[in-house]
Amino acid sequence: MEEIYVRDLMSTNVEMMAPTLSLGEVAGAMVEQSKSCMIIGQNKHPLGIVTERDLARVLVGSQHELGLMKRPVADFMSYPVLTVNQDESLYEAVVVARSERVRHLPVVDDDDNIVGIVTHRDLANAHFHVIEIQAAVIEKSIARQTRELLAANRELQAMSMEDHLLDIGNRRAMEVDLAHTHAAFLRYGRPYGVVMLDVDYFKRYNDHHGHNAGDQALQLVASFLKDEIRGTDRLYRYGGEELLLLLPEATPELALRSAWRLVNGLEECEIPHGTSPDGKMTISAGAAAIGPDDHMESWQALVELADRGLYAAKDAGRNRAVLNLSPRADHSSRRQQQGGKVLPIKR
Ligand code: GH3
Ligand code: MG
Ligand code: MG
Repeated sequence: MEEIYVRDLMSTNVEMMAPTLSLGEVAGAMVEQSKSCMIIGQNKHPLGIVTERDLARVLVGSQHELGLMKRPVADFMSYPVLTVNQDESLYEAVVVARSERVRHLPVVDDDDNIVGIVTHRDLANAHFHVIEIQAAVIEKSIARQTRELLAANRELQAMSMEDHLLDIGNRRAMEVDLAHTHAAFLRYGRPYGVVMLDVDYFKRYNDHHGHNAGDQALQLVASFLKDEIRGTDRLYRYGGEELLLLLPEATPELALRSAWRLVNGLEECEIPHGTSPDGKMTISAGAAAIGPDDHMESWQALVELADRGLYAAKDAGRNRAVLNLSPRADHSSRRQQQGGKVLPIKR
């Protein structure tokens, strides 16, 4: 923060009177100019100071002396006078004024020439002003730090791999794992499957029970699915009420079987859903899988296949699983079902 110097505070309207002038002349000038002090000096150098306090002391202590006011002011002034350099900081000036208990500080330049005067009140006001500025600066800095902290939190959340509502992997984790799994498929022909899962009639549930109840129902669904899947499989939140199950090493048949197990298992949970035709919460699933004989450029293409399977399951009435075979897959035993057609297998 910017330092405040004495020169920033001092009043330059300062007059000096010669020590040879009489006390009466000096006191008269003080009254005339409404000044609470008068600096006494010569050739611009302050030698002493006469303050109201000095005058009061003189009057009290020398009541009987006659011609008092005619005597030189030098006899009465406080001296040597305490001065402060104009280049001193406010803080130093405050320390001087406080420790010496003076209310007026003549200000001098480097040649000890009088250039101004600061009063105790000037210093106190400036001091409080500095404290106010400091408080404002601290407040600003706290606000900035809070903003930075919030931004860092957001960044951390974005970097996080978990979906905090459902306590399963988030989209980011899904993409990382799928990229890794697909790389193993491309390089070593490792099979894997995906199942897209979507809660049926969930908008109705939200509309009827409210968003909070919707959240809780979604948590129940995810928690059931998480408990149901094999240890090597992983569940992710694809987005909204859509989840994706990654099944490493799975054949299409296994992927479809797993999908049906989840669909049937959730139905058996009998989570009430008053506005669905069955009166309970159900899910639909689309499965797809690839193995060493398949060609699939990206994991996105496999997810797309599973997604089309999911929509076929929805079209077919929901609460079911559909396998979507890869159009380029070499499923020799099922050649007749190729060409991107969906293959709904009954329970
Ligand atoms: P369908 O059977 O065809 O899937 O119908 P649907 O109503 O489930 O599908 P739709 O896509 O029309 O609506 C999905 C709803 O899921 C709308 C959206 O508000 C809700 N949803 C998505 N994510 C959340 C969530 O985190 N919490 C809650 N409460 N609702 C969510
Ligand atoms: Mg839905
Ligand atoms: Mg949906």
